Amino acid sequence: MELLKRLTQAWGVSGREKEVRQIILQEVLPYADQIRQDALGNLIVLKKGNGQGKRIMLSAHMDEIGLQVTKIESDGRLRVCKVGWVWAASLYNDKVVFQNGTIGVVGCCGPIEEAKNDVGKLYIDIGAASREEAEKYVKIGDYCGFIGPFYPLAEGRLCSKSFDDRAGCWLLIEALKRNDGNRENDVYYVFTVQEEVGCRGAQTAAQLISPDIGISIDVTPDHAYPSDLEGANAVGAGVGVKLGDPSAMLDEELVEKMLRCCEENHIPYQRDVMDRGGTDSSSINRSGSGVRVCGISLVDRYPHSQSSVISQSDLYAALELIDKYTALHFDFPVPILYDKTT
Ligand SMILES: [Zn+2]
Repeated sequence: MELLKRLTQAWGVSGREKEVRQIILQEVLPYADQIRQDALGNLIVLKKGNGQGKRIMLSAHMDEIGLQVTKIESDGRLRVCKVGWVWAASLYNDKVVFQNGTIGVVGCCGPIEEAKNDVGKLYIDIGAASREEAEKYVKIGDYCGFIGPFYPLAEGRLCSKSFDDRAGCWLLIEALKRNDGNRENDVYYVFTVQEEVGCRGAQTAAQLISPDIGISIDVTPDHAYPSDLEGANAVGAGVGVKLGDPSAMLDEELVEKMLRCCEENHIPYQRDVMDRGGTDSSSINRSGSGVRVCGISLVDRYPHSQSSVISQSDLYAALELIDKYTALHFDFPVPILYDKTT
């Protein structure tokens, strides 16, 4: 789990993913047939098949949520806005880190209960006592990310920041290592940017690849704890086969085939319905003249916090599914033409 640990601990707020990309690049170099980095910063890694199959785009995002400095108060406190969906209460009195290594503690202008998840009510205390002091370390527009060390928990579970979606990045790297090129599909392992601010990287990457099939590999919330979400997802109950994603309708045949793939290979799985949020599948789905999509998910408890929890057994089930599914034969014509004369 050393690589997963390194990936989670890397700094990579949306739009600033280079530290994460650097780790991934080193890992995939020996295994890829072709690697391309586009203008947005997506890393597009191709492992060729035998030319008889489909183009499959697997997508996992490198970016993480964070905060951006909007104002520096005269007493040195930094005011911020959110980058992606941030829970104000989960950050309260915890620490954040800027790209240059500056550490700050998150406070609130008034009782945190009254902030009602408004990140605008928070401030960051980097230890400076005046604006002039603060500006020696941090400027308006700078981004900071969470601090959340990687800890093994009981029963093979893991705790860290940024499993969303560094766990997906880890899965793609490990899946690539298992792909010996002896399969018919061209598999694109795409490490995307800017998912947390609207699945932007996946959009341009899909445009470039023009895949036949798109699969986002991302976390999905656990529902087995008190939260504002309802559902059946549970950490440790197997890889999630995505059945519901508000941002994209999953292709019926691809989903059926994925469920069958789990059954036939005895891969533990759960049916994942996520009723809020979205994944890169949404952007792939609507790229070009349309792409069939489905999703593979990793159930994550306390997502979008510094201390999210996943299970190693789910991780390995997900890896198995990615490996087996991308080796399958897919048979569908695109587009289907109906000729009036016949
Ligand atoms: Zn995600």
